[in-house]
Amino acid sequence: MFSCVTSEDAKGAVQTSFLSVSATAATTYFLWRYFFPRQARGEFDAILDLRQHERIVVVAPHSDDEALASGGLIHQAVKAGKRVDVILITNGDGFALATGRAYRRLRASPQRFIEFGQIRQKESLQACAQLGVPENRVYALGYPDRGIRAMWYDHWEEGNPYQSPFTRVTAVPYPAALRFGAPYAGESLVKDLMALFRRLRPTLVVGPHLNDAHIDHWSTHNFVRYALALLEEAGEMSPLYLGYLVHRGNWPAPKGLHRSKPLVPPASMLRGDWRWLWYGLEPDTIERKHEAILLYRTQIAILRRYMISFVRVNEIFSPHSVSVVPNIGRIPEPTAWPYSRGRVLNPEKDTVVRRLQGAANITGLDAVEAEGRLLVRIDLRTAVSREVLYRLYVRAVRPPGWTDEGVAWLMCSARVRGKGTMHSRVESVPQDVAGQGEISAHYAGNAVVFAIPKTMLYPRSAFMMAAETRLRGLLADVTGWQVFRWSDG
Ligand SMILES: [Zn+2]
Repeated sequence: MFSCVTSEDAKGAVQTSFLSVSATAATTYFLWRYFFPRQARGEFDAILDLRQHERIVVVAPHSDDEALASGGLIHQAVKAGKRVDVILITNGDGFALATGRAYRRLRASPQRFIEFGQIRQKESLQACAQLGVPENRVYALGYPDRGIRAMWYDHWEEGNPYQSPFTRVTAVPYPAALRFGAPYAGESLVKDLMALFRRLRPTLVVGPHLNDAHIDHWSTHNFVRYALALLEEAGEMSPLYLGYLVHRGNWPAPKGLHRSKPLVPPASMLRGDWRWLWYGLEPDTIERKHEAILLYRTQIAILRRYMISFVRVNEIFSPHSVSVVPNIGRIPEPTAWPYSRGRVLNPEKDTVVRRLQGAANITGLDAVEAEGRLLVRIDLRTAVSREVLYRLYVRAVRPPGWTDEGVAWLMCSARVRGKGTMHSRVESVPQDVAGQGEISAHYAGNAVVFAIPKTMLYPRSAFMMAAETRLRGLLADVTGWQVFRWSDG
């Protein structure tokens, strides 16, 4: 038994708790600490300990992510007598290459995509059983593969569902899904997640990292954190959220089977305040995880080397907590900005565009409240450029069907106009913005600041935010969506 850092409280102060880990995991960790290069090992903050968590929910965007990212955690938690439930957001019914290969067609028919989704769902059931989770603890929701981002941005209301270009349907087509016929809409997914979390009452939720580069992973994170924020606001539960990474550039490297090597985070997410937890796997669990991954036969047929590169001596997770927006009284100069403890980081230099154009590479997103305004600061790797469009998104966290004052969805952007000044514009045009003040933006050095009247923002609720940059209309960088809460909320 030894002590290590595990979590941050709402104010960001580091708490220390006494934890115990199994002897094997501890041995693995110390061997690794000793042999692995200092630069990389120093970036693990602590060992993940599950002792305090009796009810764990793992959320997977596709049938296979549960095993790739957390198959070891699932197996060891079940071995320790804990309850583990798995939620599959999609059945992976939009993987054209795999579907075409399975049916020997260049382009499969909509019906084939649905059949393929059913096959993938069964593969998840078999793999979960291999990891110790029985069929009745796996919930397949059946939302559209590659459509989760569109549900987040453009198809929120149930009256305006998304249509999958693969299956051609606008509602869940799987009789074995949690809610057969549920519309492909953001609100609908939020309802399902809230209902499941209420039923399962997890103390730990394991889901995608907010910076996962795959659109379904990235947006699954948004929906899960949104549903959890609602339940937290209502005082119903406040589970720890651990993010896992599956897609980010060419990570994980090296590919192929390296079962005695440690898994370490991507280099672009290792500097500064990035937080990662090490979770060691015992030999029988490594073996079981490997066997489970091989059960996803449709995926192994195409992605074998990639998938088995997740069979390592450990798994990695990143704790995600809500950012509290401090009220700092007076509006500060951007150069004298007092960073809040909830500043959200974004990876650096991990694509060619972000390497070449530092003014489009977002390094952090932070918010404070001052003089009745929400001030949002977007930090960039180099000085602000007139070539780049800077855009901010805000989504109020409120229960499905809720109507009240304030803006549910806000999208605004800014461009350099003159020295220090920017031309800002509200791009979403919700009717209730009228008469509630102006959004302004300015810049200094490597930062762009948006100032939004608090009255515009449904001041009683939590909200989620993300920023993006565009070069000649094309997306250059985008942050993950983080949950923010007013300090007096
Ligand atoms: Zn996936």
